[in-house]
Amino acid sequence: MSDTQLRKENAKLGFIGLGLMGSRFLMRLQAEGWKIRGWNRSRSAAAVALREQGLAIDETLAGLVHQSDVLLSSLADDKAVRAVYLGNDGVFAHVLPGTIILEMSTISPALSALLHQEARKHHVSLIDLAVSGSTPAVQAGTVTLFAGGEPEVFSRCVPIFESIAKQWYRMGPATAGIRMKLVVNLLLGLDMEAIAEAVSLSEHLKLDRNLVLDVLPKTAVIAPAMLGKFSKIKSDDYSPQFPLYLMSKDLDLVDDAARESGAELPAASVTKELFEEALAEGGQLDMSAITVHVRDLTSRP
Ligand code: NAP
Repeated sequence: MSDTQLRKENAKLGFIGLGLMGSRFLMRLQAEGWKIRGWNRSRSAAAVALREQGLAIDETLAGLVHQSDVLLSSLADDKAVRAVYLGNDGVFAHVLPGTIILEMSTISPALSALLHQEARKHHVSLIDLAVSGSTPAVQAGTVTLFAGGEPEVFSRCVPIFESIAKQWYRMGPATAGIRMKLVVNLLLGLDMEAIAEAVSLSEHLKLDRNLVLDVLPKTAVIAPAMLGKFSKIKSDDYSPQFPLYLMSKDLDLVDDAARESGAELPAASVTKELFEEALAEGGQLDMSAITVHVRDLTSRP
């Protein structure tokens, strides 16, 4: 470990946003021996449960920010990140110079650029640290991280990455991490939709549904991130790991990024529409519920 790297004994971490991902990152970092506190906008069931388990959960964001050398955040979308960072009582209203921020939400590159700009104004080091991998991977400490920011800050934070991830890549300067995440989640959305169509076709071809769902994940055409989705589809259990509302949000971000950069993504446009339709039917469900939506397209007049 180099002299400048963060150490568990000294660094005080603060985690902002205790949803599906944040609550699990908090527990993982605490279990790995980091001194860590958390804060959530609402007294959600997850935040209450964490406090009952003895984790330090602050009442106010200002309280958490003042007590942290390193802030990490995992928030729903652009609206949430704007409110938490740029609001009157937000992170940048309270942050102390020298703080490191690891912003892990999937947001637009434009908002990420604004956060980097604000960080520089406040003499704070910020890395956009996008996460690939869902809740089981967070619990297992096997997510992949894509970072954008200064190489020295990235190196300082490696001990944190070691505690939560299987691999971590600095993709380039500010916003490169979040840009990479959009590339990856384009594939995630297309993969999920393709599986939904494959399952629908198999049913129309009168194949044994359960056998198809057992055999498909054993073939080379299924990406590792999709393996866990087959047991969900088989048991009709669409409890959320990566909910439809987040997948749909990410495909909107992909669509915006494609338009702004001039990329033509024909399959992405159709997939985005299908996820929007599925969202209207049950946005809190896991993204694998797109399978039900695609199957039911056939039975519609
Ligand atoms: P989630 O369970 O919906 O949690 C969202 C968090 O954002 C909650 O803490 C929520 O607080 C907070 N929030 C929402 N609106 C807010 C606002 N206006 N002001 C302040 N806080 C607000 O989402 P998640 O699954 O943890 O995902 C978090 C981020 O990671 C997202 O950007 C997502 O795209 C990304 N991601 C998710 C996965 C996954 O598999 N779930 C994988 C990779 C990346 P409340 O509890 O008060 O609503």
